[in-house]
Amino acid sequence: YTTLAEADPEVATLVEKETWRQFSGLELIASENLTSLAVMEANGSMFTNKYSEGLPGARYYGGNEWVDELENLCRDRALKAFNLDPKVWGVNVQPYSGSTANFAAFTALINPQDRIMGLGLPDGGHLTHGYYTAKKKITASSVYFQSFPYRVDTQTGIIDYPQLETNANLFKPRLLICGGSAYPRDWDYGRLRKIADAQGAYLLSDMAHISGLVAAGEQSSPFEFCDVVTTTTHKTLRGPRAGLIFFRKDKESDMEARINAAVFPACQGGPHNNTIAGIAVALKQAADPAFKTYAKQVRANADAMAQVLFKYGYKLQTDGTENHLILWDLRPIGLTGSKVEKICDAVHITLNKNAVAGDTSALVPGGVRVGASALTSRSMGEKDVQQVAEFLHRVVQISLTAQKEAGSKKLADFVTAYTKGDGESAKLVAELKA
Ligand code: PLP
Repeated sequence: YTTLAEADPEVATLVEKETWRQFSGLELIASENLTSLAVMEANGSMFTNKYSEGLPGARYYGGNEWVDELENLCRDRALKAFNLDPKVWGVNVQPYSGSTANFAAFTALINPQDRIMGLGLPDGGHLTHGYYTAKKKITASSVYFQSFPYRVDTQTGIIDYPQLETNANLFKPRLLICGGSAYPRDWDYGRLRKIADAQGAYLLSDMAHISGLVAAGEQSSPFEFCDVVTTTTHKTLRGPRAGLIFFRKDKESDMEARINAAVFPACQGGPHNNTIAGIAVALKQAADPAFKTYAKQVRANADAMAQVLFKYGYKLQTDGTENHLILWDLRPIGLTGSKVEKICDAVHITLNKNAVAGDTSALVPGGVRVGASALTSRSMGEKDVQQVAEFLHRVVQISLTAQKEAGSKKLADFVTAYTKGDGESAKLVAELKA
C-alpha cells in the first residue's frame, strides 16, 4: 500500500484543495453538512472491497459474515435513532442515495403509470417527487408515473392543503408524497394522512432534509402517519451520502419483501458496504445526547439568521423558518437568486439560487436557499451566524452597486479572515492532514 499522495498526487492535491475550500469558506447549502472523521474513516474502509448482493443471512456471495453483522447493526441503529419498534417498522439501509431510495420505494408501492402527487419543484419539492415541465418529463418519477404536483399558497408560501385536497379528490393518486428540499415549515402529516386515506392512497414521507431534526425531536415525526419514510443520510443527519427506506411491516401486503426486492434486484446491485459502515457510525452519533444539542442549535441558528435579514427589511418565504433553512425572496429588491449566488461564490460563501413561490423561471429564480446545518457542525452559535447574515446583507448591497468587483474582493478578504479565526476548523483541517 502507498498513500494517496504517493500513488496519485493529482487527486491528493484536489482532495487537499477541496478540504481547504470547505473550511476556509462558509457553507450555507441547506442539503450539505460536514460529517465526522469517524464516518469518513468507515466510509473509506476495507468494506469497499466486498460484494454482498442480497440481505443479511441470504447473500449471493460468500465471505459476508462481517458484512452481515454490519448491516444488521446499521438496521438496528436506524430503527433506534427514530425510536421505532422493530415489530412494527423495518428498514432497508442499502439505497445508494435519496433518489434511488425514492424510486425503489415507488417501485415497491405502485405500478407503472399509477398516479402520484408530491410538492412541486418550484414550490420546494424534490425532482424525484414527479417533476416535469410543459416541454419534457424530467425525472424517472414523471416518466414512469402520472404526476400532478401540489403547490404552496403564493401569498403565504405555506402548502395549500385545501387545494391539495380538492385536487386529490379529482386526480385520485395511488401515492401521496410529503417532504421537500426547500420548505422552511413543518409538515401536517395528520392532514395528509386523511387526504391519502380518502383516496386509498399510500402516504410516503421523504424526510431527507429534516431527518436529523426528526431524530432529535426537533420536527414532527412522520412515522406516526406514513406507510413508508425515505431519507438521505448526508443532510441534517450528518452521515455519508446514501439513502434509507423505512416501511411498516404490514404482513397482509408483504411490505417488507416488496421494499427489499425493489431495492435489490429491481433498482440496484451490490450494496456499498463501506457506506453502510459510515451510516452505522452516523446513526450511533445521532443517538448521542450531543446530537440533540446540535439539532436544537441548527434551528436556533437558522432563526438567528432570519432575524438579521428581517432587521434589514428583507422578505423570507413563509415569514421565517421552523427548521434548518431559510428561503429568501429577493424579488422585492430587484435581484435574482443567480446574481446573489454568483457574488456569494466570489466571497467564499456557498449557497444556491432557488425558486420562490410564484416564480416563473426555474433557470433565473427569484430567491436563494440558506441552510444552517454545516455552520452549526463547525460549532457556530447564534452570534457567529448573525455575523454570517451580516455578510449576506453586504452581498446584497454589493449586488446592487456598480463596483461589484472591488466590493467582492474586500468582503472575500473579510470572510477569509473570519473563517481563519475559527479554531475548530483549523483543528479539523490539521487532524485531516495528519
Ligand atoms: N429527496 C430530497 C427531499 C432531497 O432534497 C434530495 C436531495 O437533495 C433527494 C431526495 C435526493 O438525494 P440524492 O442526491 O442522495 O439522490
